Amino acid sequence: MTQEGGLGAPMRHIIDWQNPDFTDPDKIDAELRRVFDICHGCRRCFNLCDSFPRLFDLIDESESGELDTVDSKDFAPVIEACTLCDMCFMTKCPYVPPHNFDLDFPHLMLRARVADFQRGEPGYWDKKLADTDGNGKLATKVAGFANWGSKRGNALTRPILEKVCNIHRDAALPEYARGTLESEAKSEDLVINTAAPAFGQKAVIYATCFSNYNTPEIGESVRRILAHNGVETEVLYPVCCGMPQMEQGDLAEVTNRAKTVAAAMKPHIEAGKKVIALVPSCALMMKFEWPLIVPHDPDVQALAEATCDASEYIVDIAKTHGLAGDLKALDGPITLHIACHARAQNMGAKAAEMLRLIPDTEVKVVERCSGHGGTWGIKKQNFEIGMKIGKPVIRDANKNDPEGTGWIASECPLASLHLQQGVEEWDGRTAPAPRQCHPVELMAKACGV
Ligand code: SF4
Ligand code: SF4
Ligand code: SF4
Repeated sequence: MTQEGGLGAPMRHIIDWQNPDFTDPDKIDAELRRVFDICHGCRRCFNLCDSFPRLFDLIDESESGELDTVDSKDFAPVIEACTLCDMCFMTKCPYVPPHNFDLDFPHLMLRARVADFQRGEPGYWDKKLADTDGNGKLATKVAGFANWGSKRGNALTRPILEKVCNIHRDAALPEYARGTLESEAKSEDLVINTAAPAFGQKAVIYATCFSNYNTPEIGESVRRILAHNGVETEVLYPVCCGMPQMEQGDLAEVTNRAKTVAAAMKPHIEAGKKVIALVPSCALMMKFEWPLIVPHDPDVQALAEATCDASEYIVDIAKTHGLAGDLKALDGPITLHIACHARAQNMGAKAAEMLRLIPDTEVKVVERCSGHGGTWGIKKQNFEIGMKIGKPVIRDANKNDPEGTGWIASECPLASLHLQQGVEEWDGRTAPAPRQCHPVELMAKACGV
């Protein structure tokens, strides 16, 4: 008998992207219609993102009010609005496998995008925007100039960026660092605390494109926290995890990257080390998406099993060995946004668990998408919708910290940037906005490192 409500643990199928059926337009259309019809009768996901409102409006405004009078060519905006955050699959849908409806909405959107990619979409500038390594290598060399050009309010460059690259002129963009995390880690010898309870542990940090090129502070904080706790780390950055390419449906490129990173990490994994990913989207790719896209590859599988989210690793050290020294209270309350890709890892709210180890510090948790969605939320046509999706989180941050004395933290660095922009601009705020950062930066402060 079929069970309602996901009584079996959700499971996912291998993404059979090299099978010609996977990108057959008629087969995709049949599957879209099957799934959309189930969603039309269910509607639990109405407030998760913009995909579902677009879908339900499309059906409601059709001639019969049913899917049979909706033209398949009108599905494109529904597919386009999915940021692959996985929340519908992980938190709402009672029909995911093992239910016999066998419904995986995000991976169906992905399938449609793989077919689009094979037909020559997306365009040059979309691909350029997703090339985080190419952009990062260049921009870190000319960081001052790049940051001037991308700054919000630059009346000279932002209208050009909007016209040429389709990046909304008002969207806050991350700054570039003047040196990469990888190079800075090589030049900085940390003293390992031999008196710490966890002394003797070793781990390898996967820098992630974001921490490598934009915010080395994230990786540096993790290194310092771990050195203080007796853990020796090394930073490696073979290539970006390919999440931006997955969003565009380029699974061949994702495969190349999975294999490259797995090969670089292999000797460390064989030496018994964990692999710490600094950003949840990358950890999700490594733990869950890569083994489905590159199945039966023992190195990719071993990497999936060895990968840890940064907060997950620190909480594990605290539980298994105990932390070194006393943690100091922070100077203000924390609004902690739990990023979708951290939730989708099914590990509990590890960033909250970690920050709650800090004494006398208020931690308020918000579990909704910020509306950024990778590169989706900065695009001209999506920016306003993204801000609207993030509004409940922005409201909570405003309410939690009306004086602007505290912090907005998210393991998704784009989300915290996006939320800070919202807090600065919305709800008639007069006090300064709370400072934004990654939770491990707050943990480093509390550890006094
Ligand atoms: S994966 Fe996220 S963005 Fe995509 S449809 Fe589901 S909830 Fe919406
Ligand atoms: S994805 Fe599942 S829960 Fe969400 S609307 Fe569709 S059927 Fe309902
Ligand atoms: S909150 Fe962050 S991780 Fe979640 S969908 Fe938005 S951008 Fe992605």
